[in-house]
Amino acid sequence: MDILYAPWRDKYVTNSKEGKSTQEEEMCVFCQKIVQTNLDSQEFILKRTQHALVILNLYPYNGGHLLILPLQHVANLEDLSKDVRYELMELMSASIVILKNVLQAQGVNAGMNLGRASGAGIPSHLHLHVVPRWVGDTSFITVIGNTKNVSVDLEKIYNNIKPAFDALNI
Ligand SMILES: [Zn+2]
Repeated sequence: MDILYAPWRDKYVTNSKEGKSTQEEEMCVFCQKIVQTNLDSQEFILKRTQHALVILNLYPYNGGHLLILPLQHVANLEDLSKDVRYELMELMSASIVILKNVLQAQGVNAGMNLGRASGAGIPSHLHLHVVPRWVGDTSFITVIGNTKNVSVDLEKIYNNIKPAFDALNI
């Protein structure tokens, strides 16, 4: 059995620097997506709820690698209210079911990297990683280098799982 260390290690790449004002550049990449509500399909946002949103990771560890983040720009789990934490957990649970049902994931890694030392790419805005796994997929992973370049058709996966997220009542 292959067990990976921190397979949800953060990689989140955007091209947000182009054509943005200084003020926008200072805003964290997640907060930008939260306030920009008219580009959800372009930004691969799968679900917006009262306190959180679910998005495809643009630099996925595996096809279907999701991020769940609170709308609040908060670094520490303990600084969120119970209601927000509850919603994050409900979204994680529902996301796992969707990955299993729609993408036939055989396993799932789910977790958080908290703080820069943990490998968090955006430590100031906490987020949950949900990574679908299939038996044998580890053979394609460069574990030691902590990087894995996955050729994933984000649009295809987005269109595949979006209806299931639309149907969620959270
Ligand atoms: Zn933020």
